[in-house]
Amino acid sequence: METISSNRPKIVVIGSCNTDMVVKANRLPVPGETILGGTFYMNPGGKGANQAIAAARLGAEVTFISKIGYDLFGLQALEIYKSEKINTEFIFTDQKSPSGVALISVDSFGENSIIVAPGASRSLSIEDINKAEEKIKEADIILMQLEVPIETVEYAATIANQYGKKVILNPAPASTLSNSFLNNVHTILPNRIEAEMLSGIKVMDVESAHRAAKAIGEKGIENVVITLGKDGAYVKEKDEYTMVPAKEVETIDTTGAGDVFCGAFSVYLSKGHSLAESVKFANAAAAIAVTRIGAQSAIPYKREVNL
Ligand code: ATP
Repeated sequence: METISSNRPKIVVIGSCNTDMVVKANRLPVPGETILGGTFYMNPGGKGANQAIAAARLGAEVTFISKIGYDLFGLQALEIYKSEKINTEFIFTDQKSPSGVALISVDSFGENSIIVAPGASRSLSIEDINKAEEKIKEADIILMQLEVPIETVEYAATIANQYGKKVILNPAPASTLSNSFLNNVHTILPNRIEAEMLSGIKVMDVESAHRAAKAIGEKGIENVVITLGKDGAYVKEKDEYTMVPAKEVETIDTTGAGDVFCGAFSVYLSKGHSLAESVKFANAAAAIAVTRIGAQSAIPYKREVNL
């Protein structure tokens, strides 16, 4: 493993590795319907992997803690992470499960629907986190999502908190979370649907985003950033509330926009910027991603992001 010595922020990403199988179609099928689609393409994804690559391309030294299956998909993914200069020493292999896959449909407006079969990601365990404890101790930020078992994520948050590390949680896919877990999280980054799941408030506009952010904050978490697609993101930083608008761009494919946002946000926050500044950077990075096809292939590099 190449050692990178630099003053780049150290980010540990704990999460899933999947292979995305994507079909483009004029529209998304309704339940029970079969439609003819257009292009099919296959590329590596998984929220954990996407966010790890986003953080690496945007300037962080990244360790990715994840689990692959004993198959070609997993081995291919591993090669990609190495080529992104991500530390892969804590990507474990599950001999009994396939690597995770995601079936993604994208319509002509760039909107998507996704089913994830997590495979090996489901067996990322507390023992695996213990093996990587040294890396958590050295990190500036721990970034996690919910495509791996919740008890593993909760445990990692507890360990990270014991070492005084900032835990950033992207609560996707949408789930209800205990207050004790949220107490160990520095910033939570839900999208509209996840914010509704956490707050019970339907997020449709700035006013409802404000109420949802406040309600989530009342569960014992100081910082809440609700991503609002093309509108940008609504920020609660302690007692301050700010709407940070997105950049206006021509949308081609929104797959992975949220992951770029989370990776970019974590990199900027770890450099000591405020939440609102970090969100501005994250909006700029995610806006580039939506102008390109795919998840990982669409992730921008640091030099491309203009504030
Ligand atoms: P996805 O599941 O598609 O990855 P998400 O639902 O997790 O995304 P969104 O709230 O849709 O998250 O988008 C995340 C961020 O991406 C937004 O806060 C914004 O910065 C950026 N973004 C998304 N869509 C657009 C768009 N059409 N134009 C500009 N920026 C966008």
